[in-house]
Amino acid sequence: MDVTARQNVAVLGATGSIGKATCEVLRHLGAPYRAIGLTAHRDLATLSELAELLSPEELVISGGTPHLTQNTTNERSSADTALTGSGRWRVREGAEALVELASSPNVDTVVAAIVGSAGMASTLAAVEHGKRVALANKESMVVAGPIMLQAAAKSGAQILPVDSEHSAIFQAMQAGGVDEVERIILTASGGPFLRKPLNELPHVSVEEACRHPTWQMGRKITIDSATMMNKALEVIEARWLFQMPAEKIHVMVHPQSIIHSMVEFKDGSVLAQLSPPDMKLPIQYALTFPKRLESPTLRMDWTKRLQLELEPVDFERFPALQLGFEVAKAGGTAGAVLNASNEAAIDLFLSGKIRFVDIATVCREILNQHHYESSPTIERLCELDRWARQEVMKWT
Ligand code: NDP
Repeated sequence: MDVTARQNVAVLGATGSIGKATCEVLRHLGAPYRAIGLTAHRDLATLSELAELLSPEELVISGGTPHLTQNTTNERSSADTALTGSGRWRVREGAEALVELASSPNVDTVVAAIVGSAGMASTLAAVEHGKRVALANKESMVVAGPIMLQAAAKSGAQILPVDSEHSAIFQAMQAGGVDEVERIILTASGGPFLRKPLNELPHVSVEEACRHPTWQMGRKITIDSATMMNKALEVIEARWLFQMPAEKIHVMVHPQSIIHSMVEFKDGSVLAQLSPPDMKLPIQYALTFPKRLESPTLRMDWTKRLQLELEPVDFERFPALQLGFEVAKAGGTAGAVLNASNEAAIDLFLSGKIRFVDIATVCREILNQHHYESSPTIERLCELDRWARQEVMKWT
């Protein structure tokens, strides 16, 4: 890629944790990178601040204004005015506008940073339109990996991982071919409950589950890290993204979150990527690949003693991870069902309707109930997403 060429970037989910970090990276990079479009679901105030900083051409509010900041009338009116009243940017509303932005001929790169399967339609649109897709929205790969890959093969889209683990693997794989890989080793921090006595897990609170020891992230992925469903989703994501059978994917607990993942090649060499936990690095790499440019990220301190631990996963503590391996092997409709069950179960946990430990149990039950199909269409996957969410509601 010629990095001096125009790089018009659409940041889908700009108001989230990854979205805001992407905006920081874009400000740091400057020309030829430009945020041409930003999207929010409901957070108008943050969208308005980002628009001031980055002067995009287009804003999308996917949740629609009736939902917005109802409890903060002043904030709503000032943010509304700043966004819609100024005439400085084109503002569009609704989920369709996300797809239109992701498909726009003015957009070269799409950063897919919406949380959950809500991000799938716009991510798929970006892939179908041959964009460079910086993929944070792992759920779209979990739900529809083969469909995404087929669309990329047809359109020539490049899907570059933003997840720090997959970015680490992608970086290590620059040293060898896919057929030279013995296995990939995803690292997992272990989250807040790595050392918690097992008999206390049924009683953990939402607040405890939201307290991640090493990463600052959105709420859903923080809960996923506590259950280790995040690693399960990453196993499935890696299975499709690197076209690697589940048997060649391994997970190790690494509490320091410095080694972001590793690739073991056939000759026995293991290549790892290390850096402090800071998502700006993988985001920037996905934007500038194959170039490495100066970055605003945290640096390793080589003057201090460095302790790096790696330990096997305790599957009794983290039953969700087993589901990830099973679904990565099964493919077909299993990813959509696991993902939707998990999203809905997290909502129930966050609203106090089920216990933390029930999240994995609910997902297991609904996966077992579903009628598996090996080559579903995207429409069938969307139907199953809705079905699984309805099934989860029966647990309340
Ligand atoms: P956040 O919850 O912080 O942000 C989510 C973003 O998606 C916000 O912009 C939000 O808008 C928007 N959004 C929420 N619901 C919808 C919807 N129904 N339709 C359209 N947009 C919506 O999430 P994160 O940034 O933490 O995560 C984003 C993705 O990146 C996830 O897939 C996650 O797994 C992945 N990821 C995140 C990492 C991290 O460090 N945070 C690391 C690796 C991957 P609004 O703010 O207006 O509600």
